[in-house]
Amino acid sequence: MSAFDYDLFVIGAGSGGVRAARIAASHGARVAIAEEYRIGGTCVIRGCVPKKLLVYASRFSGDFSDAAGFGWSVPAPTFDWPSLIAAKDKEISRLEAAYRATLDKFNVAIFPERAMCLSPNEVRLSSSGRTVSAKTILIATGGHPNVDRKLPGIEHVITSNEVFNLKQLPRRIVIAGGGYIATEFATIFHGLGSEVTLIYRGGKILRGFDEDLRGGLVAAMTAHGIRIINEKVFTKIEKTPSGLVGTITGEEKLEADQILFAIGRSPNAKGLGLEALGVRMDPAGAIVVDNNSQTAVPSIYAVGDVTNRVNLTPVAIREGHAFADTVFGAKPWSVDYTTIPTAVFTTPELGTVGFTEEEARRQYGSVDVYKASFRPMKAILAGRDDRTFLKLVVQSETEKVVGVHILGPDAAEIIQATAIAVRMGVKKSDFDQTMALHPSAAEELVTLREKWVAPGEAAA
Ligand code: FAD
Ligand code: NDP
Repeated sequence: MSAFDYDLFVIGAGSGGVRAARIAASHGARVAIAEEYRIGGTCVIRGCVPKKLLVYASRFSGDFSDAAGFGWSVPAPTFDWPSLIAAKDKEISRLEAAYRATLDKFNVAIFPERAMCLSPNEVRLSSSGRTVSAKTILIATGGHPNVDRKLPGIEHVITSNEVFNLKQLPRRIVIAGGGYIATEFATIFHGLGSEVTLIYRGGKILRGFDEDLRGGLVAAMTAHGIRIINEKVFTKIEKTPSGLVGTITGEEKLEADQILFAIGRSPNAKGLGLEALGVRMDPAGAIVVDNNSQTAVPSIYAVGDVTNRVNLTPVAIREGHAFADTVFGAKPWSVDYTTIPTAVFTTPELGTVGFTEEEARRQYGSVDVYKASFRPMKAILAGRDDRTFLKLVVQSETEKVVGVHILGPDAAEIIQATAIAVRMGVKKSDFDQTMALHPSAAEELVTLREKWVAPGEAAA
């Protein structure tokens, strides 16, 4: 009989925590999990899943207007926000129940309350006041949205936590930030009919992504009617009888019904009793772990956003899985962080895997670049000016494709499949020898023959 109540106690039932709990239990561990909000975590409840549902909703407006070019007469469409939110809520509840059912199936004990560490082997549950012991503790508490707490009027803004449950569609919305969430919600609200302004502190949104994709997205968003203000931040926000007024640097005033802050997220690592036990934190407040997700305290591990490695759902899931296999399944492995595909679900969509051109040049010195930019077939009859852009970044010496970047419809789907090949070390000649699938946008990936030459540079 074990000296502990459980073999594993997981704090946080999100992407990483649920996967770790389920896999550890499948290896025969006695597992408990605590969740202070809703089972499923950020991704399921107020992240990837509801966001993608809103993305789908937002794209119908474009589809309705495109339909005329294909002979359809569509009566003036109307959109009802409360209906969308109700449908979204129903689906989220269904998924939450499915996550709970999985935990039940694997006999994982669920504590619906906040938890913190009392000792390297003890967890305190805040509502019931119970103390539970476990041989191993896994911190999988995720992160939370940042806001600028010192900004006058900050109490009037919303974050991604609130945006999914607004009572009505804002007629005018101003979004602060230039990353994933800010850009995704800019095109979501624009597609649903709101007047959208994006205010970003830097010179060009989506820092860190491929330059051509960034430029292409800015051009498309601007052409669609989204106002992007660069090099500015809010200095004050005030409530008025007709909504909100935000003042930005330079004193311009922006009127809005909602102001959404999407300026990054921070790890939920504070208030868990960890520092007192000797768990180390990095300057961003994330839990420091080794390759096996183990902290400086041997019985305490951490996975997912709370460790601020790569803050994406599939990464949190894989970290949770690797932890459980390694510690409870005698099958040690660790996560490979190279070639992680990612998409920004804007309209148009952006998908990317591997190095950007700039990163590849820094890494390898000499790289060859292949680019295609074209109006996709559907856009022509639809009368749209939107362009699809594809780019291959190839290491000159080995001919390995080290980066693929796409802006356009279905970029995420194309990149997910392409990522398999990139991870396997695919060469440009493999792309060339692959038969095209016609007519498709992705066929351009295997028909790119001419190296791109920067203006002013002579072709080799
Ligand atoms: P989480 O899923 O955040 O789970 C942590 C859980 O711990 C939460 O349920 C929380 O309530 C609970 N918790 C915290 N503290 C305690 C405590 N003390 N006691 C008990 N419970 C606690 N990623 C993608 O890959 N694709 C996307 O399209 C995407 N879209 C996103 C859209 C938005 C708006 C946001 C905010 C994020 C998005 N992400 C996306 C990121 C993704 O949601 C996260 O990377 C992922 O959820 C991290 O999983 P996790 O297990 O680390 O944490
Ligand atoms: P991001 O890190 O993507 O972007 C944060 C943005 O806010 C950047 O443009 C940053 O500017 C800006 N910013 C940071 N601090 C300030 C400040 N004090 N004032 C003004 N602007 C500021 O974070 P998000 O909040 O958009 O999303 C959080 C994370 O969630 C993402 O990084 C990603 O890991 C995940 N996510 C993934 C999605 C997906 O896979 N599709 C979708 C949504 C979220 P700068 O660039 O200058 O630093």
